[in-house]
This record gives sequence, C-alpha cells and structure tokens, in this order.
Amino acid sequence: MSGNEVLNIIRNKLFYGSTDYTKSQPDLFTPHKFRIVAPSQAENFLEIVKESLTGEEEVLVYVHLPFCFSECLFCNSFPFKVDREAQDEYLSNLLKEIELTAKHGLFAGRKVRCVYLGGGTPTSFANRDIKQILDKLSSSMDLAADCNITSEAHPLTLPDKNRIKELSAIGINRLSCGCQTFDPEILQRCNRQNTPAQIERIVRDAQDAGMTINIDMMTGLPGQTMESVKKDLSILEKIRPDAVEYIRHEIVNPLVVKLYQDNPGLVVDNDTLFEMVYVTQEWMSTNGYEQNGRFTNDKQWPYRYYWLKEMPIIAFGSRARSYTRTICYDKHEELTTYSHMIRKDIVPIGRYITLSEREQMYRSLLLQLQLKSGLDMNLFRARFNRDPLEVFSKLYSTLSEYGCLKQEDGGICLTKYGAYFVEDVCDYIIDAVLKEESDSLIRTPHSVGGTSSRLT
Ligand code: SF4
Repeated sequence: MSGNEVLNIIRNKLFYGSTDYTKSQPDLFTPHKFRIVAPSQAENFLEIVKESLTGEEEVLVYVHLPFCFSECLFCNSFPFKVDREAQDEYLSNLLKEIELTAKHGLFAGRKVRCVYLGGGTPTSFANRDIKQILDKLSSSMDLAADCNITSEAHPLTLPDKNRIKELSAIGINRLSCGCQTFDPEILQRCNRQNTPAQIERIVRDAQDAGMTINIDMMTGLPGQTMESVKKDLSILEKIRPDAVEYIRHEIVNPLVVKLYQDNPGLVVDNDTLFEMVYVTQEWMSTNGYEQNGRFTNDKQWPYRYYWLKEMPIIAFGSRARSYTRTICYDKHEELTTYSHMIRKDIVPIGRYITLSEREQMYRSLLLQLQLKSGLDMNLFRARFNRDPLEVFSKLYSTLSEYGCLKQEDGGICLTKYGAYFVEDVCDYIIDAVLKEESDSLIRTPHSVGGTSSRLT
C-alpha cells in the first residue's frame, strides 16, 4: 500500500478531528472500575502494592505539584491557584507522604531510575522547596547514580540564568517547558505569553547548566493556521531544544469550550488539523526528535521511555496516580482530605483498580506500541502464556489492513504513518476494548467539554 493510501485510510477511518476529538491517555481505559480504599485499609493496601512489586529492580517516581499562577485555555490538569500558605502546607504533607510510603518498604532493594516533577507548575515552588523534595527522596530511597530528574516548568518561572543554574545545582537535570506556539495572537487567546527570544534563552541557559530540555508544542489551538504552525517549526529549528513534543490540543477546559461556543470560527477544521499533525510529525522525524510511537532509547524522554517499558510508577501528591504491573491507585484529589489523612500518619490513597489479566495485556499493548520496537511478543508470551497475535487478532488484522500495524523483529509495532497518528491508533484500540465490555462505555466528545476549572 502506498503512503498516500495509508494516510487516506487513517484520515477516513481513524482520525479524531477537531469537532469530535477527545484524547484518551493509553492507561485510562478502565476509569469505571475504581474501588475506594478506606483510610483504615490504606496500610494493608500498601502491603498488597509492595507484594505486586516483587521482582522489580527499578521504579519511577512521580511527584505531583498541582499549583499554577494562571489558567491556560488548553490546561487539562486544573491546578490550584498559587498561594504561599497552601503551598507550604502541601509541601510539608508531601514530604511526610514520601516518608510514610518509604517506611512501608516499597523502595527496599530497588533503585529509582527517574524522578518526574509534574503539575501544575512545579517551578511555582521556590528552589529551596524543590530541594527539600529532592533531599527527602534521596534520603528515603535509592536513586540510581544516573537518575534522570525532570521538572516541568512554565517559561515565566525561569526568568534568568540563576534560577536555572540553581535548579541544576540542587539536582534537576532535565527541564520540560511548555511553549505550545510562538504565535502571539494565539498565545494571548490562550492566556499565555512566551516569545521565541525567551524560549531560546531558556534552552541555552538550561544546556549551559548541563541540563537537557524539552519544549512542549501543540497543534489545533484556537485559530491556529498551517502558516502559523510552519512558522513555529522554523523557530524551533533555530532554537534546537534537546527534545520536542507535539500534541494535539485536548479540548477539555470549560474556558476553551466557551471560547468555541462564542467563536466557532476558531475551531481548526479536520482537514487542516490532519495536515498539521502530518507536517509536525514529519518535521519531528526529519529533525531527529523522538515521540510517542517511535521511542528507540531513553535519551530524549527517559521517564516516558521506562514508563512505556512498564516500569512501575510510585507517585506522590494529591491526585497522583501510581502503577505497578497489576495495580493502579490514586491519591486523594481533594486537598483537605489529602492533608487530613497525612496528619493522621495515613498514606492518602483514595481508590484503586486491580488490573485483570485482560487489562494487563491491553495495557502492555498500548504502552509498548509507543516504542519503535513495539510490543515484545516473546516477553508477552512469557508473561501471559498467550500468543499476542491470537489475543489481539481482530485488532491486529484491522489495523494492519489499515497500514498502521506490522510485525517486525519479534514485535507488533506501528508503521511510519501509524506512529505519526499514534493517538488515533491508541484511541481506536481503547474504543474497541470499551465496546467489548459494554455499549454504554463510550468516550465523551470534547464538544461537551470539561466540568471543572479551579483557577476561575
Ligand atoms: S497548562 Fe497552563 S494553567 Fe495548566 S498547569 Fe500548565 S501553565 Fe498552569
């Protein structure tokens, strides 16, 4: 099949355009199955988690810092508004949560491969606060000698070289900075401001300080045009960050839903969005930037790379989600409950799912498909005692007919264009899984919008 034929099939059969598009993270196909963990059960539950980590030599650590000082229209994490007092309280609870969890022995005998500080804007906390978190992690667990420690950062929180140097000095060795576009009109519409000169300075300062740096970009922003996207790419070519991520604008924030209701002309039409995804992916590929669907190593995306390899994630902070191979659990989202439980020396676990074997198999598929080598069929057979080509036969036959999946070197992997449109391929799989379970489990189109926004 020619490349054009594959692209046409993807466009007609898989592509979630701007009017109906709802992005689903690969992990999130079982939200309806969560069970509550009562405070009195938290200790026992952690024992079960510990048991499920048997045999794991390395883990990932995620720290959630859900505070931010503005609300971007594309925000899907609904952070709390920055507030010194609230952040101080959160920090002291977080430190205690790390201590309480480590006491349960979750980290005993294993190393931490990567740490990821996400949010919100982690750098809305002062360097001394971030240092306290990193110190607490190093004293509570064994960080690998070459542990990658990433912090997400808003450009406005990196006003000068000194802040970046200090972050490097306290142990952050990778930054992930949101930019999304350099188009001033779109940025203003989205409640953001960042200039090419500012991002270029941040990239240089980070690299001079010995860090690597990723710049997050988006397609499908309100009023975005092909011309604007191409201009962004030419600016990125000049700046040359170590990693770039292009994702599609996920329309979940009520603010952007309202904007689209008032100005329907700002919604990027499906054909233009398709071209934007194609052009940005082609650019990423040509310029040596790895992305979901074609990760080959841990250089540009260490935390993500090991996550896709199914390394367990132990997460700290309110709403933070942890994963072992068989259990997924969330911390309480509500800050009052979160701090109340910690004050009583209880690890604030709110809900969990024990993944069935079928869910584990689909999770393996969805995660490993995002690696260039794809789903390792030998490992799959060894773990589940089943042949993946038989388990996923219907999906495999449809998606390979569409020109999106292939078998190569013992893996089920994405083709070139399957990888460019990895989100659509994964969404197709998620939809198929949901449909198999029940006709009522359908994803909500974005036009319905999100329901919460904390900063307004
Ligand atoms: S997207 Fe904007 S509002 Fe949301 S956390 Fe990032 S900087 Fe804050």
